[in-house]
Amino acid sequence: MTYERPHLRALAGYVPGIQPREPTVKLNTNENPYPPSASVDATLASLSSNILQRYPDPLAQRFRVAAACLHDLSPGHVIATNGGDELLRLALTTYLDPGLPLGLLTPSYGLYSVLAAVHGAPLIAVPLRSDWSLPTDTVDRWNASAVPLAIITNPHAPSGTLLSVAELDQLARSFKGVLLIDEAYIDFVDQERGHQTSRLVKTYPNVLLLRTLSKGYSLAGLRLAYGLGAPDLIAPMLSKTRDSYNVDTLAQLIGTVALDDTRGAAQTWEAVRASRAQLLEELTRLGFDCTPSQANFLLAAAPTGASRPSAEELYRALMAQGIYVRWFDEDRLRDKLRISIGTPEENAQLLDGLKRTFE
Ligand SMILES: *Cc1c(COP(=O)(O)O)cnc(C)c1O
Repeated sequence: MTYERPHLRALAGYVPGIQPREPTVKLNTNENPYPPSASVDATLASLSSNILQRYPDPLAQRFRVAAACLHDLSPGHVIATNGGDELLRLALTTYLDPGLPLGLLTPSYGLYSVLAAVHGAPLIAVPLRSDWSLPTDTVDRWNASAVPLAIITNPHAPSGTLLSVAELDQLARSFKGVLLIDEAYIDFVDQERGHQTSRLVKTYPNVLLLRTLSKGYSLAGLRLAYGLGAPDLIAPMLSKTRDSYNVDTLAQLIGTVALDDTRGAAQTWEAVRASRAQLLEELTRLGFDCTPSQANFLLAAAPTGASRPSAEELYRALMAQGIYVRWFDEDRLRDKLRISIGTPEENAQLLDGLKRTFE
């Protein structure tokens, strides 16, 4: 006997990366390898349990003001959510009528298609080209199927490649539905690219940006993210589809402190960028073929050749040594490892682990 709705019975849920409890080298879920900024630490240390007695501000107003300031927008452009994952779910609930299709690129973050399946939405999934770039007819294909909502990841996961703001402009202009740009990894983009996207939400009524404090701000455990969009696009999520108290008091408080002081976090982004360049070089020397990445991870194709271990074998051999990376049993990813950038010490342990496996 099952009471589950029929379409859920056959659905395998999203499977997150392993969260090991014992001390390990954890390079499997793209967390920031450095702790949150000192001001977050000081705020946490100063808190009393009194702050939990009452309900939180339902609209997370102070946090929205902090986010608006950071992006030179107004609070009406901002919605706070319980992690980016909640914003993704809200986008489906708010913009996608049951039965209508969700636009996607494949491969991408596995949660998108799980949320679509739960929602009962078919997919119009456009496969990325072999260099991970977008087919030129992507938007035409979505428009031809009257897709009301499409999600792209930029920097892309799991490749780490980045679409320029000019390319995003083009997509936003030609797409007829809501374009959700998942910017979970945007903080790690090289500074010299000058990749600033917040003006897109002033220009286009159909662009929704997803930002999260999980990766850039080292706050994955806090569960706090936000969406940026035109006030008319954001309003129905604020007033209708979200839970009244979707972001708890602690998250609002800590998140506001984190956004008011981005300097500490920015130092970690710079350290991650430097390690990313170095790790790419060292993996290449070991025979991996790495996609150049603007995120805090590398997608590395395992060395090929007779008697070389497969990506899956490398993944398992590393795990046996307490080193966790991600391997996806999925087309175009089966021959690759996705490796989060760690501290220099962790990256060195990863390289040692790989060398031991190759011996
Ligand atoms: C991590 C991640 C998110 C959001 O994560 P939260 O922890 O829920 O904020 C969204 N999209 C992608 C592609 C991610 O990797």
